[in-house]
Amino acid sequence: MRKGQIFVVSAPSGAGKTSLVNKVIERLDDIKTSTSYTTRQPRPSEVPDESYYFTTKDIFEEKIKHGDFAEYAEVYGEWYGTDWQQLVNLRANGFDVILEIDCQGARIIKEKIPEAHLIFVLPPSLDALRERLKKRNENDQDSLDARLSQASNEIQQCIQFNYIVFNDQFDEACNDFIAIIKSHRLKLDALEEEQRIKLEKMIHM
Ligand code: 5GP
Repeated sequence: MRKGQIFVVSAPSGAGKTSLVNKVIERLDDIKTSTSYTTRQPRPSEVPDESYYFTTKDIFEEKIKHGDFAEYAEVYGEWYGTDWQQLVNLRANGFDVILEIDCQGARIIKEKIPEAHLIFVLPPSLDALRERLKKRNENDQDSLDARLSQASNEIQQCIQFNYIVFNDQFDEACNDFIAIIKSHRLKLDALEEEQRIKLEKMIHM
């Protein structure tokens, strides 16, 4: 069984990253997201243990001490971390994994797992971002302001990523995202067993 690949996806809050990722997961086989741990409170729309593992600061710190995280970072005053074991298990079972994490986390993953592919989702504009965040209405004013001021910092970091998905049109952005994943699946050293056997047979015909 081939080892799954890692696609790290970052974007400013409100850029539409989660909707895009959900659509990509729906349209492709053998790919899953990793569920992160966070110390922030769940939003009304979120499902515990699916959207995130919601936990306390104390437990989060224990997990850091045990080396349970592939990366962790403080984002908007709360802690978020990627579970190493989950990542290892998904890849070992042949699943590609999407990590929806911030730019700090993306950088750490690239240092630890150089073969990870880094994708940045760019919103149509900062005005569009502001409108989306307001409409989402899940953040108080302070947190909304923090997310907006953080957005331009994050956009400046997009040059450290391997790919940019322009999320101007949802369907087109989704197709672009899928094209990135498929291109990596078609690399010679990433082929499925079945594809490899077919190739070998044709080479030796
Ligand atoms: P939100 O609170 O809106 O769900 O997420 C806030 C930010 O934290 C987003 O940029 C999200 O991608 C990021 N994030 C979510 N999980 C993780 C994680 O495990 N590690 C890191 N570094 N960032 C994360």
